[in-house]
Amino acid sequence: MTKALYMDDSYLKQWKANVVSVKDEKYIVLDQTAFYPKGGGQPWDEGTLVKNGENFKVVYVGKFSGEISHELDKSGLKEDDEVSCEIDWERRYTFMRYHTASHLISNLLYKRADAKITGNQIEADKTRMDFSMTDYSPEKLRTFVEEANEIIESNLPVTIDYMSRDDVLQKPELARLAMGLPKNIKEFRIVRIGDIDEQVDGGTHVRNLKEIGKIEVTKTVNKGKNNRRMYFILKN
Ligand SMILES: [Zn+2]
Repeated sequence: MTKALYMDDSYLKQWKANVVSVKDEKYIVLDQTAFYPKGGGQPWDEGTLVKNGENFKVVYVGKFSGEISHELDKSGLKEDDEVSCEIDWERRYTFMRYHTASHLISNLLYKRADAKITGNQIEADKTRMDFSMTDYSPEKLRTFVEEANEIIESNLPVTIDYMSRDDVLQKPELARLAMGLPKNIKEFRIVRIGDIDEQVDGGTHVRNLKEIGKIEVTKTVNKGKNNRRMYFILKN
């Protein structure tokens, strides 16, 4: 099983790894990786594997049957090869900022309006959030985003730790994304924003809210009776 280095250190950009398996010449499993596989609304990481000065571009990373698989732009790597790995940091860091921002917004939607997040997709230039909320109004949303931006100014730390399934089940607000907890997992990773928010989450996040910048809502779409879609961008 690959060690998922991004789980405990979102800031790891370079590391060494060994090739554990190669499928169809271009699909590589490593013994340890910081490349984030697409999931939880966060896109995959891109970057490079280097062996003896030869570069292999990582063009896609996904999780298949529990294994993190790196799709390369060309063949040439073999089992047991040692490679130097590097993440396209600008791309990843953008996703980290958007991901933490989306937790903060979903916290306020839940706390202030009892709204449930029904979908969330981060992109390189914007993030989309779907939520269900009774008595929606643009003014309310604006108030929540203003509050989010004030909280960002307070420089709260974002931390990671782990919690048992039983403890998570005592706190239903921990899994706000209305999906339920994955079965057969005994220990869950928890992402905390200061003492105001905690979520079961496998994504990568900034260490401090100030890294987010400023949230700006660019568009909202009516998706039915109580369902809304919002798009936001981050300003530095
Ligand atoms: Zn998340």
